[in-house]
Formats: sequence, structure tokens, C-alpha cells
Amino acid sequence: MQDLTDLYQSVILDHNRRPRNYAVLPTANRVGSGNNPMCGDQITVYVRLEGDRIAEVSFQGSGCAISKASASLMTVNLKGKTIAEAEAIYADLHQMVTTGKVGEDNMSDLAALAGVHQFPARIKCATLGWHAALNAAKGDEKPVTTEKPSD
Ligand code: ZN
Repeated sequence: MQDLTDLYQSVILDHNRRPRNYAVLPTANRVGSGNNPMCGDQITVYVRLEGDRIAEVSFQGSGCAISKASASLMTVNLKGKTIAEAEAIYADLHQMVTTGKVGEDNMSDLAALAGVHQFPARIKCATLGWHAALNAAKGDEKPVTTEKPSD
């Protein structure tokens, strides 16, 4: 059994204890949800889209520290971004959690999630909230489930 110490870095612990933008967003015009039955993570994301820009984003849910911290980091990093910018950040994040390679763009606090790549079962925890938020922003409000091979 690998030591989880590296995985639960201070950034992740902090976002798990004090998740940012953890609320229902009354002004949301898009809502998405994600379900990761492998771990028991459930997340609802709220997006207020202005044109193609994510003006506000929040989430609520229950699940493991990784899913909650990653969703919290998602809200901080995607707020104010266009959908295209958000997809680029998610692509870097996805690469990072699957390979451990930190993207060339400034991933800043997101780099705390790089350790996830050592724990393949946790990758879906780390991507759940992002996937749900991007789907919602793009108008696909079908629940995201990690059972789909397309994740
Ligand atoms: Zn999880």
C-alpha cells in the first residue's frame, strides 16, 4: 500500500476542509451533476454562464477529500474563464492527474493534484467536478457518471 501523504498535500487538505464556492448558486443558469460510484462521490455544480464565459461557478456534494478539493479548485480556476479556456485548463488537469506531468501553463494550486496519477482509482475523483461543470457550461446537463468509458 502506497503512502498517501504525498497525495494529501496541504492544498488538498485545505480545500477539503474549507471548500471554496461551496453553495447553491441562486443565479445559476446551468446545473450539472457528477456521480462516481466507484468511490461514492456525488457532486452538483452550478454555473452562471454569460455568453460563453463562466461568470460564476459553485458546487455542493459529498465524497472523498480528493473529489471535494478538486471541485473546490475547479470553481476557483474556472470562474471568469470562457468555455474554451476552461476546456484547455481541464485538458492540462486531465493530463496531469493521469500522467503526473504538470502542464506548461501555470497550473499553480492545481499542481497539488499531480500526485493523483500514482493512484489510478482516484483519477475519477479528481476529474468528476470538472467534467460536470464543463458539461453543464456546454449545455449538456445529463448527469456525468464515471461508469461511462468516455470519461
Ligand atoms: Zn473519491
